[in-house]
Amino acid sequence: MAGKRKVAFQTTLTFIRCRAAYQHALDDRGWLPKIAPGGQKLWEQQFVCYRCGALRIDQRLRSTRKLTSRWYELPDGYPGTMTQDEALTILMADNQERAYDEWMQGRAVA
Ligand SMILES: [Zn+2]
Repeated sequence: MAGKRKVAFQTTLTFIRCRAAYQHALDDRGWLPKIAPGGQKLWEQQFVCYRCGALRIDQRLRSTRKLTSRWYELPDGYPGTMTQDEALTILMADNQERAYDEWMQGRAVA
């Protein structure tokens, strides 16, 4: 069981690296033609983070290439409320797993 928890924590650490200074490491998955509900022609560009698996989706008007919307689909367990400073604190800790547990406890209280 301890081994299973360790593997799960390795996944959590990849999320924390994205929350810290690194940002998402985005890879371009290409363009898809789309039609908006109002009938406007769009291009949708998808990016995937090769570290954590997060997906960023941008939609642009085909006529002007203007960005009309952007959203993220984050993997389960991604700590979306963790600040960059909190992420760095965990990455720099001697015991990263304990530092993460302490952050989680702080979230439960707050
Ligand atoms: Zn990422």
